[in-house]
This record gives sequence, C-alpha cells and structure tokens, in this order.
Amino acid sequence: MPGFDYDLFVIGGGSGGVRGARIAAGFGARVGLAEEKYLGGTCVNVGCVPKKLFSYASHFHEEFEDARGFGWTSGEVSFDWATLKRNKDREIGRLNDVYARMLDRAEVEIHRARAVIEGPNRVRVGDRSYTAANILVAVGGRPWLPDFPGREHVLVSDDLFALERLPKRLVIAGGGYIACEFASIFNGLGLEVDLVYRGKHLLRGFDDDLRHHLANEMRKKGVRIHFDAAFASVEKTADGVKVHLTDGDHLAADAALFAVGRRPYTANLGLEAAGVEVSESGAIVVDDEFRTTAPGIYAVGDVIDRVQLTPVALAEGMFVARRLFGPGGPTVSYENIPTAVFTHPNIGTVGLTEAQARARFDRIRLYKSTFRPMKHTLSGRDEKTFMKLVVDDATDRVVGCHMIGPDAGEIVQGLAVALTCGATKAQFDATLGIHPTAAEEFVTMRTEWVPQPETYPQA
Ligand code: NDP
Repeated sequence: MPGFDYDLFVIGGGSGGVRGARIAAGFGARVGLAEEKYLGGTCVNVGCVPKKLFSYASHFHEEFEDARGFGWTSGEVSFDWATLKRNKDREIGRLNDVYARMLDRAEVEIHRARAVIEGPNRVRVGDRSYTAANILVAVGGRPWLPDFPGREHVLVSDDLFALERLPKRLVIAGGGYIACEFASIFNGLGLEVDLVYRGKHLLRGFDDDLRHHLANEMRKKGVRIHFDAAFASVEKTADGVKVHLTDGDHLAADAALFAVGRRPYTANLGLEAAGVEVSESGAIVVDDEFRTTAPGIYAVGDVIDRVQLTPVALAEGMFVARRLFGPGGPTVSYENIPTAVFTHPNIGTVGLTEAQARARFDRIRLYKSTFRPMKHTLSGRDEKTFMKLVVDDATDRVVGCHMIGPDAGEIVQGLAVALTCGATKAQFDATLGIHPTAAEEFVTMRTEWVPQPETYPQA
C-alpha cells in the first residue's frame, strides 16, 4: 500500500505476531515487527517449550524407579538443576535464532525494541516513527500477581525458568494449568510440593472425572493439595518463606510460586489514544475478524484473552494475514480446541465436558475406562489411566474425549481430527485398535457407563 512505510506493522514477536508477520510477508506485504524482549514470546521463552523440557526432566525420576521391574539396575541417580537449566537455555537460544532467521528469510524487518501506537496508522519504535496501513497487536500477557502482604517474596512462572538454584520445598498458589503442571514437574524433580487452591477441585473447566482423577494421582505421587485455601500473606524467613493461608494454616518453604492466571500486557501501549477499546482486565476487544475498535488495528493471541493457547494464537495471526493480504478464509473456530496439561500423569482433552454436553443435548451417553497401564504391571507403580468419551445420543456424534495417562496429549491430538470431522461413536467402534496400546481403549469402549452409587460427586 503506497504512502505507508509498511503494509503491516506487528507489535510483539510471539506465536501470533510471528505467524501473522510471516504469512503476510509471504503474500507480498511489506512487514515490520517489533519485539522488545525475545523472539518466540511466552511459548518459546517462558512457557510451553522450556516447560515441556522441564517436564521431560521430571519424568526420569519415575523412569529410573520403573526400570527395576524390567530387570535394570542402575547406580545411585542424582539430578543436577544447573545442567538442565544450561541445556534448556542453549535450546531456547537456538530457537530464538531460528525465529530470527525465519523472519529474515520472509523479509520481515525486525525491530528489537519496544513499539507503541501513536495513532491508527503510526507506531513509534525507540525514537523513530513509522507509518503502517495496518497494525497487528500481539503483545501477549504477563503472569498476574494480585496485591497481598508479602507479594514481593513470591515467584511467578517466568522466574522459574531463570532459577539459579532449585528450592527443596515449594508452595504453589493456583489450580490452573501452570500451578498443576509445575506442582507435578517440581514433585518429579524431587521437591516437597504444597499446592494451595481456593476451590474444591483443580482445573476448573475440565471434565470433572479428570479433575478428581488428577488430584488422586498427584497425591499418590506426594503432592500435598490444600483445597478451599488461598495465600493470605507471605513472610520472609531466614531459610525461605512462611506462607499464611486463609484457613489459618501456614506452610514453611524455600520458595512460593503464585500461578493464578496471566493478564494481557496492554499497559502504556498507546491503545487509548488510538481509540482501541480495552476490557477491565486489560484485554483488547476485537470482533470475530480480530478488528479492534480503531480502524486498521488488529489484535490476536493472549492479548485478546479468549483462549490463551499457542495454536489458537497461530490460527488467529494466520487468519488476519490471509484476510488482509491473501485469499481470506473462514474465521477461527473455538469449538473442539484440543489441549494437554503436562501434569503427571498428562491430561489430554478435546470437545465438551460431561457437564457441558448435558447442558447442550437432551441425552448423552458416556463411556469410561480406568485401568493400569501395561507398563506398570511390571514396574509395580500404582498409577491409573482414565479415559472417557461423551456422545450425543441423538446423532451418535462423539462430542468429548478426555484422557489422563502417559502421553495423553499425543493420543488426543489424533482424536481431535476425528471430532473435527464429526465422527460418530459407531465410527469409533468400527476403527481397529493398535494393540497393545493404551490408545486402543478409545475404540474398544463398548459398554455405556451408568452412574454407580460410589462414583465421584459432580462438582
Ligand atoms: P489458569 O487460568 O489456567 O488458572 C488460574 C488459576 O488461578 C485458577 O485455578 C484460578 O482459580 C486461580 N485464581 C485466579 N485468581 C485467583 C486469586 N485471586 N486467588 C487465588 N487463586 C486464583 O491460569 P494459569 O496462570 O495457570 O495459566 C495461564 C494460561 O496459560 C492458561 O489459562 C492456559 O491457557 C495457558 N497455559 C497453557 C498450558 C498448556 O497448554 N499446557 C500450560 C500453561 C499455561 P478458579 O479456577 O477458581 O478461578
């Protein structure tokens, strides 16, 4: 678009921003991108990627123990955090370079500085001002830390990736993705972990059976879960912190982590001046084509606070680029978003929970299976896998798949294709299993589950 320095200026070099920039440039747009911190954003630097590497590290603990049942003996095992952190940092550095090269190859101009919006078609980067026909805001979010006495003594998830030394005892506040994943990861790395959650069941929004099963399994592995409690205050002590809970209890630890959600990072971005409406939580308000209330300004990813997941930000960024510079296409669907929680054991889920399905359909059918994974018949580990299918009775369509067990995310990704295609339970039944796997259970559950008196109460 002549008359502008850029056809598109992207603020934020995370998942949504980089994808939007790259695809737009691929359609021939002149694209600039500003990133003040690190390319790859939360996912690559302080989220999905390093978290998954830590998750791998923490699983070895049980692997060494499980190996004995298969005839292996090993010498004394020990864990060195410094090695893990160094290797993780090296890998993240490599990925930062990959992102830079990818943008360079696409001929996106990278500005390694903070950008603010000066008006509908103008951004300031450092002391220079640029015009752009379109602006895409993809600045993501930051861990949220509410006000409470002693908040300066707690860590947030970003800090965990930079820890020089591993604490021995950790208290975690929260019951969402981050709190549960890090409770499992640090428990696996040998720490004493207390998880403090204000509600009665972890992972609100997930299927209730999964939530109960997860708490049971985490407890078996030694995570101490405190329900109906929250941090009242945190006191610094000679050897760490003392966390005072709202139920009157207190917990002594080397460190405390607060993981109670992430908020959009929209402060001082010039949004108000440009006429971009922002919600109370700081999220940019967009329509279903990611247009903000200011002409020519779009927003995607965690900053719009719809679904804070990398693949969702990627889809949103791609939609905007195709809509502006390519052939367009259908807008992003928020139905059937598969997701995994890298707890021990992992959770993988797609589609509706039982409660959501009950609210939507006249009658549903449930299929459930709880079993000991084959590996643990020899390892002796007391860990159970749980799977559940939720079916709309009228159409026979499978509307929800839920699993907790090893590699649940890997398994459920394939099932997400089936649900996206509208697969019926009869088609699941007609699918041959892969034997012997845990995954085959999803195509061999034949008996409809009927409530038993001793089953969990629904939350
Ligand atoms: P979540 O929204 O998942 O969970 C926040 C938790 O904090 C909930 O348990 C919530 O309780 C609790 N909470 C909220 N406010 C307070 C408060 N004032 N006092 C005490 N507890 C409170 O946020 P996370 O920080 O765990 O993660 C942020 C997002 O990042 C996730 O929503 C997810 O989208 C993404 N993510 C995805 C991962 C993955 O794909 N594997 C991994 C990590 C993060 P309640 O439920 O009662 O409101």
